[in-house]
Amino acid sequence: MVKQTIQIFARIKPTKKNTAVYSVSSEEQASASLEFVVPKDTADGFVNNKRECFKFRFQKVFDQATKQERIFEDIAKPVADSVLAGYNGTIFAYGQTGSGKTFTITGGAERFSDRGIIPRTLSYLYECFSLDSSTMYTTHISYLEIYNEMGYDLLDSRQEASRLEDLPKVIIMEDPEQNIHLRNLSLQQSANEEEALNLLFLGDTNRMIAETPMNQASTRSHCIFTVHLCRREPGSDTLRRSKLHLVDLAGSDRVSKTGLNGQLLTEAKYINLSLHYLEQVIIALSERNRFHIPYRNSMLTSVLRDSLGGNCMTTMIATVAVDKTNLDESISTCRFAQRVAIIKNEAVLNEELDPTLLIARLKQEVQSLKEELFMLTGEERDGQLTMEEIQKLEELVKAFLDDPGPDVTLSLGPDMRKIQYCFSLLKTMVLASRIGRSSNCDIQASPAVIPEEKDICEHHSAEEVAKLKEMLMQRNNEISILVKLLKKEKKRANDAILQLTSITNRQKHAIMSDSSLSAMPQLKDGNNEPSSNTPGGRAVLYMKRGPLLSVGKQEAFESFITDHEDHVIIEDNRSLLKQRSAEARKLGEQLHDAKQKINEFKKQIEIHRRQRAVYGVTGNHQNVDEEQDLVEENLRKNIEQEKKTYKNTVGHLKALKTEIEHLQLLLERAKVKLQKDFQKWWSEEASNVQETEARSQTRSPCGTLQPSSPCSPGFEYMPARPGVQATVKPDPTDRACSSSSCQDFRIVIRKTASTH
Ligand code: ADP
Ligand code: MG
Repeated sequence: MVKQTIQIFARIKPTKKNTAVYSVSSEEQASASLEFVVPKDTADGFVNNKRECFKFRFQKVFDQATKQERIFEDIAKPVADSVLAGYNGTIFAYGQTGSGKTFTITGGAERFSDRGIIPRTLSYLYECFSLDSSTMYTTHISYLEIYNEMGYDLLDSRQEASRLEDLPKVIIMEDPEQNIHLRNLSLQQSANEEEALNLLFLGDTNRMIAETPMNQASTRSHCIFTVHLCRREPGSDTLRRSKLHLVDLAGSDRVSKTGLNGQLLTEAKYINLSLHYLEQVIIALSERNRFHIPYRNSMLTSVLRDSLGGNCMTTMIATVAVDKTNLDESISTCRFAQRVAIIKNEAVLNEELDPTLLIARLKQEVQSLKEELFMLTGEERDGQLTMEEIQKLEELVKAFLDDPGPDVTLSLGPDMRKIQYCFSLLKTMVLASRIGRSSNCDIQASPAVIPEEKDICEHHSAEEVAKLKEMLMQRNNEISILVKLLKKEKKRANDAILQLTSITNRQKHAIMSDSSLSAMPQLKDGNNEPSSNTPGGRAVLYMKRGPLLSVGKQEAFESFITDHEDHVIIEDNRSLLKQRSAEARKLGEQLHDAKQKINEFKKQIEIHRRQRAVYGVTGNHQNVDEEQDLVEENLRKNIEQEKKTYKNTVGHLKALKTEIEHLQLLLERAKVKLQKDFQKWWSEEASNVQETEARSQTRSPCGTLQPSSPCSPGFEYMPARPGVQATVKPDPTDRACSSSSCQDFRIVIRKTASTH
């Protein structure tokens, strides 16, 4: 068991303003402090009547320039290591909206180097698995979003989910031992890094699609990405299960400041409520004599129960934005962290016995106990009673029944077999008497009557019945054991098939990374349609297709893209992707060359050996042997050199592949964002146009203009926006209505000289 307080770290978000309200100092090796200096007369909304200086202690404080790599190395890697060892781990980010929680946990959407803790940790875990080939690891992933006290499964791969409410709702269940179970939260197996990243991407995409301008769920919901790890060493009878929760909490902004109302206020209330309950749990845990911890008050605290004051190694990252306007929020974030730092967790190694090996161990234990018993009593208790023992027991029972004294006892010693036999004998007798057997055999009717020689056969039949019953019982046991065995075999066969599939997948993967030479370019150029069989593949496929647009809208969309603020980043990433693809292709060629060279050198060695054999037979050239050795040695050196090159290139190619995949995901995500932004812009503009048109139509003889109006068949609004000039023209072919406003419209889109 490892007792440890929750580790707290602070990360300061980069700011352009030159602000001098804070300072960071690293005092000891394992401690640093973050200090805010607030002048008493500060006019930026923070009323400070008492103190000028607020100092908070953290394990480490990461200042503005800290890179994602360092955050991973210092915070996430130690947690990932303990999860690999079999302990539960949690990392959660806490801070106000916009302070960098999502950036820290998931990463930025622009650059490969902006990858956050989740993708880096996945990369690290799979790298560790491949290095430790003696251990079998299985990984499952779940991704839960909690919004307004309701849980949603983000790994839902159906495509029709366009609102959060369309996603499967997750329900909390509690068993009698008070363990929490999440119903409807899917656990998806991921055999490699790529599959795991696809799941992360699927979850993030579902999160983004479900978000609407009215419901910026991402800042008001809590997201819990969990890696479920199972580790088994061959030959060992135990397995270790551990969980790693990576939590992106909702913004901790206080309601008073947000000044929200209506629906948003309800959301803010819920978020603040759940964060308030989180705080209450933390306060309760930090108080010594508290027995009741109010975990059940909210879904978040129920789910994170183990991470807070339980069996888990937990780490908190306080994200702070240090602009003057955010000072009060930053101070409250740090105060929260100080409370969290008091909580002590007790992480235990989650080791379980494998049931099959447990049975074997129990059998062995039974055997040794039997042997011990034999040593103590001197009696062999194995197997059935002997005929002599049975006879003796029958005599004892007979004597017991014959004796009319009320104090008479039947002493059988500590042998359960004998006790059971006597009981079954007595039962048979009682049953026999009940069905009215002959008075001679009726023990109950005349207990004094002893079965005579002539009745012994009758008595034996009762004995046989008992024996048969016992046999029946044994057969029953055998059958149930056999059924169990059958089930086990079936399960094992299934497991083997699963394993085989995952191995085949892994081999495919290896082949791809090895011979990425041919596969890579396809992948990068986007010609490679992702499989719709995997959840990630389905999501990617959906992203690629996107919603179907009409021709006009498509044209507007294309024009919209070029003016979008993300356009430069997208183009940059696209050209980076091309560049990386070219690099990968080149590396592929190098690999190919190295392989050919190795083969060539091998051939040469073979030829030299043959030559040497020929010289050996003919007895010619004494010096040739030494020369040949030298030649072979040189060739071997060359092979080693080429092997090294090959290995290095494979390493480069692997890293490049990860980067390429990430860039592809970034591009897909950017595309989804573009589509969402476009839809939003489109509907806004359309409603503007509609309003204007409606106003001018009030004078029209045909009344208001509706897209479905008989006066305007197929009308499509083309909103105006910078860079695109949209004109709505009457269709001269329409003669149904003479009024220009009632005619069919053609839409003309012309791109004007854009200032953007
Ligand atoms: P939160 O999740 O806390 O609401 P985000 O992570 O979405 O905040 O961050 C808000 C914005 O600030 C994003 O555009 C993000 O890319 C940027 N950002 C946050 N932290 C950093 C950082 N350390 N370096 C660069 N950009 C950052
Ligand atoms: Mg966020």
